[in-house]
This record gives sequence, structure tokens and C-alpha cells, in this order.
Amino acid sequence: MMRIILLGAPGSGKGTHAEKLSKHFFIENVSTGKIIRDIIESKSELGKLVSDFVKNGELISDNIVCKIINEKLKSDKCKNGYVLDGFPRTLQQARKLEEFEVKVDAAILIEVSESIIIERLTGRVQCKECGNVYNVKLNPPKVVGICDTCGKNLIIRDDDNVPAIQNRLRIYQLQVAPIVDFYKNKNLLKVVYGKNNIEGTFTDILNVLE
Ligand code: AMP
Repeated sequence: MMRIILLGAPGSGKGTHAEKLSKHFFIENVSTGKIIRDIIESKSELGKLVSDFVKNGELISDNIVCKIINEKLKSDKCKNGYVLDGFPRTLQQARKLEEFEVKVDAAILIEVSESIIIERLTGRVQCKECGNVYNVKLNPPKVVGICDTCGKNLIIRDDDNVPAIQNRLRIYQLQVAPIVDFYKNKNLLKVVYGKNNIEGTFTDILNVLE
């Protein structure tokens, strides 16, 4: 049983490492960003309500996202553990997890410099089908625009444009310090330095979890 929170700026590698941790420990990968994108895609009332926030790089309301995460974490899929990618994003959300009596074994902060982050996000393309992430400069697919794994088309996320990226980074910088302190005070915080070498960063993550 392993229950992990991943903290880090947009583009720090949370999604990539959440997927790897999920496979390594046989635990559920819970990405609030992915859940929210699926809700928007479904064109439901809730999807319409939140879509402009996401497109502009704003956070959606704590109430909505906390309700979503509570339902997800209580589901059967999460009973063997989970890795949270993109939650909590505010101190209020971190406190809510405690209220929901959600247990956490570690909160891992992936630190990456802002210049690397901007380079990664501006070239990011993603497979809609399997979620694989590429970068047109740093980690291109074998065939332009096509996923190596499943052969489907690659897309640019709606919020991977420069104004939305700047907004997301600004919001992250405003919100992250209190969350980091919250987990530091509980002796749950582990810090790793994200590199462009995915395997190297993943080894560091496994090491801090020991
Ligand atoms: P991500 O895929 O984690 O970068 O999330 C994409 C977008 O979904 C964010 O920019 C927010 O608009 C929304 N989102 C994801 N997680 C949260 C959260 N915990 N709280 C509020 N909004 C969120």
C-alpha cells in the first residue's frame, strides 16, 4: 500500500512520474487535470462551467475539485493506494484531504527551473488516446504528430499556450509554498530535483520513498 502526492510546477514531470509510480507500485494514478479534461470533453453542465478556467490556466473552485477527488479516492480502484498528480493545488485542498481522512505516506516535490519548464511546456504534445507526452524539441515522437505507442494523433493541450502557461506558473508560485510547509510540518515532504533524464529522476523518487 502506497499513497503518494506529487507536487511541482506545470511541466515538472508530475504526469510522467505519476504514470511510472502507478505501474511500479500497482496503484491508481489520479490526475485531477485529466479527470477535469475528461469532464470538459463530455460537454456536461459541469464541463461547461469549468472549461474557461482551464483554458485560461486558472484553477477551478476548491469545492468542485474536492468533491471530485473525494469520490475518486473512495472508489474501489484506489483501495490498494494511489498517486495524486495535480492535487492538492491550494492549502485549502490539502486541509480537505485530512477532513476526508485520506491517508498520505509521502508528498514528493519535483523541483525544476523555470527556464526548463517553459521550454518543456511550449513544445509539449500529447496523445489523446493513451496520454503519452512528447516534446517536439526535447523528446520528439518517431513520426511527427503520431504517438509511438498507439499510432493515434498527438494534440497540443488547450492550456499549453504562452499566456495560459504564464498564468499557470504564476498561480503555482503563489500557492505552492504553504502546501510545501504543510507537508514539511508533518514530516512527509521529500524533495527531488527534476532533470531531463526521466529514468534518473525516477530513481531519485524511488530512493526518497525508501
Ligand atoms: P494539470 O493537468 O494538472 O496541469 O491541470 C490542468 C488544469 O486543470 C489546471 O490548470 C486547472 O485549471 C485544473 N486543475 C487541475 N487540478 C486542479 C486542482 N487541484 N485545483 C484546481 N484546478 C485544478
